[in-house]
Amino acid sequence: MLSPSIDRVTYVQSSDFSDLQEPTRALLPVRRARLIHVVRRTGRVAGVVYAVCLAAVAAVIGVTSLTDQAEAAEVRAITWPVAPDHLDNVQPWSDTYGAPRSGGRSHLGVDICGPKMTPLVAAADGEISWLRHSTASGNNLTITDADGWEYHYIHINNDTPGTDDGVNNYDEAFGPGIERGVEVRAGQVVAYLGDSGNAEGTCPHLHFEIEKPDGSNINPTPSVDIAAAAIREGAIDPDLGLTYPSLSSFAADALTTLAGTNPNADEIATFRAEINDTGVAGALEPLVGPDSIAAGIDRLYFATFLRLPDADGYQYWIEQEAGDWNVADISQFFATSDEFVARFGDKDYAALLDQIYRDMFGRAPDSEGRDYWLERLADPDDPVTPGTVLSYFSDGDEAKIVAGTRSELVALTALFEDRMPDANEIAAWQELRESTSFGDAVTDRFLS
Ligand SMILES: [Zn+2]
Repeated sequence: MLSPSIDRVTYVQSSDFSDLQEPTRALLPVRRARLIHVVRRTGRVAGVVYAVCLAAVAAVIGVTSLTDQAEAAEVRAITWPVAPDHLDNVQPWSDTYGAPRSGGRSHLGVDICGPKMTPLVAAADGEISWLRHSTASGNNLTITDADGWEYHYIHINNDTPGTDDGVNNYDEAFGPGIERGVEVRAGQVVAYLGDSGNAEGTCPHLHFEIEKPDGSNINPTPSVDIAAAAIREGAIDPDLGLTYPSLSSFAADALTTLAGTNPNADEIATFRAEINDTGVAGALEPLVGPDSIAAGIDRLYFATFLRLPDADGYQYWIEQEAGDWNVADISQFFATSDEFVARFGDKDYAALLDQIYRDMFGRAPDSEGRDYWLERLADPDDPVTPGTVLSYFSDGDEAKIVAGTRSELVALTALFEDRMPDANEIAAWQELRESTSFGDAVTDRFLS
């Protein structure tokens, strides 16, 4: 019943994109939006492995409030905090975040056991914001990065090499030139692994914590795992044309940005295998194609607001859909926003339907569809809401046809350039896609 036509596609391409880049703050908790932004930007700037904070784990454990979800699971882009050539010299570490410790405390770090004097390196560019050299209490230091995130290094060495004498020479505890207030670069040696403080009775180890600007900790284990994986696999194959430090970091970015999941090591390995089998574009296609979460969110923004998503909102709602929201829930939420009310608020259902058909499909409603939805909207016993109508429409075949390659470009631009495309870019992509395959278009536009 719904066949593609050039007219419809043309209509969409020539739609009013005047408010293209304007974020709809009403649609997303502001604090959360900033958090995503900070984490992602920092990863890019530092040029290290990165991923974003996610809600998927929160959904699994049944956390329902948006705030709780935002804080439940995060991965911070870091450099592995031990010198990379010592990766095989340390013992395997495990996730002991939250494990009980003496005095009712819980463990806020990850413990990496290894030989004393193993060099410890800065996990990020930043400043040595705190340093303690204390025979009584132990040696530790904190690096604060430009975004206010803190990286804590505890149990730094206090022994003469080869002994457990506790003599605590400064230059056998801290790296060359390291003192409070100095700037360090990611990967720079800042200290040496040891057993100072209350670690004298355990294996010498680095206790490493990641603290957010608001003073709360995240579980550092996934961040440390991904940073170590990047060392193991080495530099990325330049033939792939990806500007990422490792294939794992690209996989983590693609899965977090486009699928809204917090990928574990197996999922990252699977995605890497797909890249090896089908190329970068082949691995990305299911994440950006018409049946992807990302494309669905793009279409829902268009259906509800007749515009592209803003970058933060797009990321946020992809994560929610990967968590415990479905399209209908999200659409319901959109339909309560000020922006939606401003567009549709004073319309009766018939006028609303007419406008939805016109905006989305560039045509008048067919009478069958119009009558069906009018009846359901006015059903005295079990009325559907405009939000429900929008979710049906935005997920339907005609919406997929009309959205065409726009949703692909929105997703790819979000992944590779951390932004939304403009109308000219959408038109150019459309043209490119009419003349070439998805894979060739991705290579041409995004891979160098
Ligand atoms: Zn510890």
